[in-house]
Amino acid sequence: MQVYKFGGASIANPVQMQQLLPIIQSVKTPLVIVLSAYGKTTNALEAIALTCKAKQIEEAKKLAKQLEQAHLDYAQKILSPDNFNVVFPHLNALFTELEWSIDDFNLLDFDYSYDQIVCIGELLSSRIFAAYLNQMQLATTWIDARDLIRTDTTYRDAKVDWEQTEKQVVAQCLPALQQAIVLTQGFIGATSDNASVTLGREGSDYTAALLAAMLNAESVSIWKDVEGLLNADPKQFKATKKIDLISYSEVIEMAFYGAQVIHPKTIKPLQNKNIPLHVKCFLNPDLKGTTIQNELAHIQYPPIIVLKKQQVLFQITTRDFSFITEDNLSKLYHVFHQLRIKINLIQNAAISFIACIDHEEDQIEALCNALQEEYKITRNENAHLLTIRHYDEVIIDELTKDTVCLLQQKTRSTIQLVLKD
Ligand code: ASP
Ligand code: MG
Repeated sequence: MQVYKFGGASIANPVQMQQLLPIIQSVKTPLVIVLSAYGKTTNALEAIALTCKAKQIEEAKKLAKQLEQAHLDYAQKILSPDNFNVVFPHLNALFTELEWSIDDFNLLDFDYSYDQIVCIGELLSSRIFAAYLNQMQLATTWIDARDLIRTDTTYRDAKVDWEQTEKQVVAQCLPALQQAIVLTQGFIGATSDNASVTLGREGSDYTAALLAAMLNAESVSIWKDVEGLLNADPKQFKATKKIDLISYSEVIEMAFYGAQVIHPKTIKPLQNKNIPLHVKCFLNPDLKGTTIQNELAHIQYPPIIVLKKQQVLFQITTRDFSFITEDNLSKLYHVFHQLRIKINLIQNAAISFIACIDHEEDQIEALCNALQEEYKITRNENAHLLTIRHYDEVIIDELTKDTVCLLQQKTRSTIQLVLKD
């Protein structure tokens, strides 16, 4: 059994979706497909949630209508009139679900309301894709991932209840796989009260890994628009190198430092069961791609570069001159954790705590409000955080020229620098 995950770019439009057909036709084993919302649908749904938050409900409904129409147009282009008529009631039911979620929008529980709105994207795209595969004589069973993935109520970043999920996955997918391809949604799940949840942005990879582990798949393939994992983001750096083979732990490191390659939660379930993960290019399926697997005897990696822009470096200093030790540290971490602010780099001095975080104005304001009574806060904006794994002096010089270094941390394998142009 194999698991294929197709991301938003691979189904960005009906032509693109059609081009996935030969990839799926060539699979000789039972297949589970995990699908994302198409194109930038999740961003559009997020915009609807934010429009509700700004109390512009009528505007939100208008945006929802546009999104609904775009999905109908998409379905109409790829399906015969008969098949369109079959799928139409399913799409319509989802449109109703979206409109109700807008009506029920609750400002006091934004994360909950967000998830009820944002989950619709993958449900819509997967309904269309399932209808298309059936139309092309590939028998496909559509399963609602909310009947598979059981989670807690941490909306927007839900934690999976492994035992319950495994029961549901085995009970529903195994029998269905005997007759057909199983097609479900990435990124979404449900609580024990049947509320929709999401697993965190870009969470579809994680869903694919969960299903693969629970169904003991031979492998997972994530189909992307790049030839495989690269040692740096090609949008930021010119001379990138493709990595053929990489260990699970190296990928975890890359993700931790902010490389947007694969959702970081994806790796653990695969590593537990030793299931290889292939990153393949849907534009050219014959390319070898990248394989992520267990640590091998010795893999020689090129320097792996991760650049995070729009960073703010905070210096948080105690007003009472108390040292930054256990007491202050636990207080500070607690505030960051409560506000869900991820710290990208930390350094301590005697009475100050230095943290590099993404520049999100709302979060920064909340952070300053929470801390200003006990701490003096100064900030340095417009910085970027450069991380290089497997570095050498040549690459450091090359990547830091014409910059000012505000902070540097170095281990034998990794260097991190907070820089300003
Ligand atoms: N559609 C979701 C997102 O864009 C999940 C995913 O694509 O993995 O975040
Ligand atoms: Mg997506």
